Amino acid sequence: MTVAAIVVAAGRGTRMGGGAPKQWRLLAGRPVLAHAVADLRAAGVARIVLVLHPDELAHPLVPAGCSVVAGGDSRDASVRAGLAALAADPPDHVLIHDGARPFPGAALVGRLVAALADSPGAAPALPVSDALWRGVGGRVSGVQDRTGLYRAQTPQAFRYGAIVAAHAAHPGGAADDVEVARAAGLDVAIVEGDDDNLKLTWPADFDRAERILKGRSMDIRIGNGFDVHAFCEGDHVWLCGVAVPHSRGLLGHSDADVGMHALTDAIYGALGLGDIGVHFPPSDPQWKGAASRIFLAHAIEQARAAGFRLANCDVTLICERPKVGPHQAAMRAALAAILDVEPGRISVKATTSERLGFTGREEGIAAIATCALVPA
Ligand code: MG
Repeated sequence: MTVAAIVVAAGRGTRMGGGAPKQWRLLAGRPVLAHAVADLRAAGVARIVLVLHPDELAHPLVPAGCSVVAGGDSRDASVRAGLAALAADPPDHVLIHDGARPFPGAALVGRLVAALADSPGAAPALPVSDALWRGVGGRVSGVQDRTGLYRAQTPQAFRYGAIVAAHAAHPGGAADDVEVARAAGLDVAIVEGDDDNLKLTWPADFDRAERILKGRSMDIRIGNGFDVHAFCEGDHVWLCGVAVPHSRGLLGHSDADVGMHALTDAIYGALGLGDIGVHFPPSDPQWKGAASRIFLAHAIEQARAAGFRLANCDVTLICERPKVGPHQAAMRAALAAILDVEPGRISVKATTSERLGFTGREEGIAAIATCALVPA
């Protein structure tokens, strides 16, 4: 089952104030649109089409890794442009999301996709809990029964072929894709929405979004890793991405980069994704002699896919020799390049074990690593 998403952000709405259309306004240093994309990715949706205003296709803040298409002069024309962009390789399911909602949330997306097993359409909504009044001239003129009323949200989820056909048959002017689907006779399941999945419309909404982000930023993941490799014949050892000349080598299935292995395991650990052996089994001959950077790059990619970035990491190499100090800067730079962060977020240090134990007897090298992942 394949799932793609269309994020509609072709509007020029500036009711928020501040000049820029709201999808480009910054929230915690990133545009509103990028937060929505990060949530969709965290839910496992890798294929994302952004529908942008024709003048903004090359906007410098377009999130990386998304397809970009030009919107039309109405909301449904923009959605049709997004659907058309997926036509060459049609997904099973498509999520259609409003780019002014920065926090669709991975859990909500999961509920929507699950609901499509039983229904051609599914959309999030929350029951109206406040009393509803009618008013005229600033005075209450009547009370509206709220029974059966919902506040509709996005993403709205559909089986791809069904919503394409529904849009093709619709005369236009629909408020949202549920209206289009229902006009075509499609059943749309109501899925429990999320109060944090707010639509940014007024300046106060922006303040609330900042508060939601602050709450989310408390979701910090810590991981640790430990690894050991024995010395063998050789003239260098790989340590944290640097070939360090030595009178011995390190024995291992891959290049035996003990520091990089410990760090890779720390990242997998923070994500609850096991260790290197799970992802790159030593029994699989294709990883024999592999450069350990492949493992580390895979681990950090899993972090990104889950909506996290590396805040910092700290690797300690435990050995009597070789001396690590002269290579520390190169090691930090090598790890930083793989992890795509500045070297200041990476620490590599070394200690001896005072000639005690297997490291003290120079039988091998041990490494421990700790990392912190924070919401991307
Ligand atoms: Mg290892």
